[in-house]
Amino acid sequence: MIRDMTSSRKLILKVVMSKIKVTVWNEYGDDQKGPAISNVYPEGMHKTIADFLNKDTEISAGTAVLADNEQGLSEAVLDETDVLIWWGHVHHNKVEDRFVKRVIDRVQRGMGIIFLHSAHKSKPFMGLMGTSGYLCWREIGEKERIWTVTPSHPIAQGIPEHFVLENEEMYGEPFGIPEPLHTVFIGWFQGGNVFRSGVTFQREYGKVFYFQPGHETYPVYHHEIIQKILVNAVKWAKPDVKVNNLDCPNMPSLEIL
Ligand code: ZN
Repeated sequence: MIRDMTSSRKLILKVVMSKIKVTVWNEYGDDQKGPAISNVYPEGMHKTIADFLNKDTEISAGTAVLADNEQGLSEAVLDETDVLIWWGHVHHNKVEDRFVKRVIDRVQRGMGIIFLHSAHKSKPFMGLMGTSGYLCWREIGEKERIWTVTPSHPIAQGIPEHFVLENEEMYGEPFGIPEPLHTVFIGWFQGGNVFRSGVTFQREYGKVFYFQPGHETYPVYHHEIIQKILVNAVKWAKPDVKVNNLDCPNMPSLEIL
């Protein structure tokens, strides 16, 4: 005898998309408003990123910052977010744990998330990875050559075999992450280091992409290939299904016992 399991299972919401709703979150502290950064990103990196994403007809991107209501991570904002993009650095510890928990829960239930550059030490990244986010770094504006090492991946479509950023902060291995689902890009730096620059993960229903380029004083997010990678990443990370909760249901037996 087979019993109907429907009532014991969580509600699965199939996501019927019109446009992919993206929220670009940036800590955007006062340090980002000084000339070293504002000369490159006059209205902040989040605005630059949202602007180029919005040029794609399949994407509708907005922005949120740490100073916003509920640190830009309110339920209302996340309700309208299919893919969250996260840039943080010097203010990681100001993000309240209750909002970190909220973001992680959303990812586990289906929201996509893209962590940029120094977000390797953000609370949501370390929480989703379960690891330290360790790496070594050197900020002298050296050249980075990025290699596309999984050309068949959706994030790599239309991206050349390799390309150069003339100035980038060096991030070097070993990188304190779990073994990725896919390593899509590897960066080589002029000073000799290498780094897994673009890596994907799956955390329950949610897709995760970490992408290393994006030091705040270099025009990385104005670079055409970087923009193409992030457009691809948004389309890859969009949820196919979302679930309303991950509570553990009691499971009736399928057979008469
Ligand atoms: Zn940096």
